[in-house]
Amino acid sequence: MNNDNQKVIIVCGTTTEMLKADSIIRDNHIEVDLVPTPSQYGSICSTSIALEEVNKITAERILEKIKIKYNIYPYRVRKLLGLMESLKKAKLSTAFQVIMNKIEMGHELTKDDIVVLLNTEEPKEIETLYSVADRLRKEIVGDIVEIRGAIEFSNYCKKSCNYCGIRKGCDLPHRYRMDEDEIMEAVHQLVEMGIRTVILQSGEDDYYDTEMLCGLLKKIKKVTKMGITLSIGERSRFDYLLLREAGANNFLLKIETTNRKIFESIHPDNDYDQRIQCAKWLKELGYVNGSGNMIGLPGQKIEDIAEDILYFKEMGIHMIGIGPFIPAPGTPYEDLPTGSVEMTLKAIAVTRIVCKNVFLPATTALASIDPDGQRKALEVGANTIMLISTPEKYRTSYQLYKNKNMIDIESALEAVKNSNRKLPKYLKLPNKEGIQ
Ligand code: SAH
Ligand code: SF4
Repeated sequence: MNNDNQKVIIVCGTTTEMLKADSIIRDNHIEVDLVPTPSQYGSICSTSIALEEVNKITAERILEKIKIKYNIYPYRVRKLLGLMESLKKAKLSTAFQVIMNKIEMGHELTKDDIVVLLNTEEPKEIETLYSVADRLRKEIVGDIVEIRGAIEFSNYCKKSCNYCGIRKGCDLPHRYRMDEDEIMEAVHQLVEMGIRTVILQSGEDDYYDTEMLCGLLKKIKKVTKMGITLSIGERSRFDYLLLREAGANNFLLKIETTNRKIFESIHPDNDYDQRIQCAKWLKELGYVNGSGNMIGLPGQKIEDIAEDILYFKEMGIHMIGIGPFIPAPGTPYEDLPTGSVEMTLKAIAVTRIVCKNVFLPATTALASIDPDGQRKALEVGANTIMLISTPEKYRTSYQLYKNKNMIDIESALEAVKNSNRKLPKYLKLPNKEGIQ
C-alpha cells in the first residue's frame, strides 16, 4: 500500500472475526495490511485491518453481507506536536532535525532516517532520541510496565544455532525436561503473584509433541485462565494451529536478523524463508505475534538493524524483543565480542518510534550485560519485563549465554521504581505500596 494515501482502519470485536474479514476483503482484491490496533481504538495485543480510504465503501459492503461486526476509523497519524519548538535551543545536525520534524508531523521514517538515528554518537542527539521514544511510549501505552513470567521448561534442543549456549552441539553438564506437574507448579506460583501471562520457553525439543503440549495448554487455561505465550521454535502450520486452538495466545519466534546471509551463517539448520513463513503462519492464525533481533551479530551492520525494525513494522509484529548478542561458552561464537548496550537502547528507542503500539520488553540479555539495563530500556521506550520463573534447580542449566541475569521480582520492582513507572494493578505484592 502507498504510505502517503489516506487510510482507514477496521477494528473487529474478536480475532476470529478480524481474520474472516481480512480474508474476504483480500479475496475481493483489495489490498490490506494487518496492523497492531492503534492505542486509541483497542487493546495493545489486538490486530486491525488497514486499507486505503478509496476502498472503504466496497469493504463495508462486503462485511455487511457476511454480517461481521466492526468499527471503521480514520487511520490517523500520531503527531508529536511541539517537538521542534522544544528542540529549538538544542544543537542538532540538520539531518537529525529533518527526522525530528518528520516525527512531529507523524510521517513514516525511511531506512535512511533510521540509519541516521542509530548512527548518531552526539550525546545531545542520543538524549533527544531517547526522550522522543519515551514520550511516545507514554502517550501510546502509558506508564504501566507489564510483568510476565517465563518458565524455561526444557534445555534440550535439536538445533545448533551458533550463538546459543544450549545448542545441540554444546556439552552441557545437565540437560533437563520439566514434567507437567512441575510446570503446573511453576504456573501456580505466577498465579499467586497475580501474574496474568506465562511464557513457556524451551529449546526445539520434539519430546514435547503437539498432543502433549496441547494437553498442558488446555490445563493451564482451564485452571488459571492465564494468557499463554509459547517460545518453542519452528513447527508446522498445523502444529501452530492446534496449539492456538488449545489455548496459546502469543508466540515468540525471533527473526534474529533480517539479513539473509547472516541469518543463514548463524543458523546451520534453519532456512530464512522458512522462518518468515513461520512468522506469517503465526500471524494468520491469530497469534499475538512476537519477534525480535540480536544486536552485535557477526557481520551485522547498522543498515541491517534498520531493516529489522522496518520488518517488525511491515509484519505487524506485536511484541519485539531486542537484546544484545552475548557470547556463550562452548559455542562457535564464544570468543566474539558482546553487542553494545548503547546500540541496543537506540534500537529499542527507534522501534518504539516506528512501530508505536507494541510490547517492547526490557530484555534479560540487556540486563545481563548491564545491571541497570532494565531501567535504561524502560526509559527509552520499553514497557514489559519478563521474570525468570524457572524452578531454581533448573535455572542455571538454561544458560543461553554467559552470566544470564535471573530477573526476579525484586529487580523488576527496582527497575520500575527507578524509571518512575507504575506496576500493573493485577500484581499481588505485599510491598507494592510506595511504588505505584
Ligand atoms: N528455541 C527457541 C526459544 C529459545 S531461544 C527459539 O530459538 O526460538 C530464545 C532466544 O534467546 C532466541 O530467540 C535468541 O534471540 C536468544 N538467545 C539465544 N542465544 C543468545 C545469545 N548468545 N545472546 C543473546 N541472545 C541469545
Ligand atoms: Fe535451540 Fe533456540 Fe538455542 Fe537455536 S536459539 S539452539 S533453536 S534453543
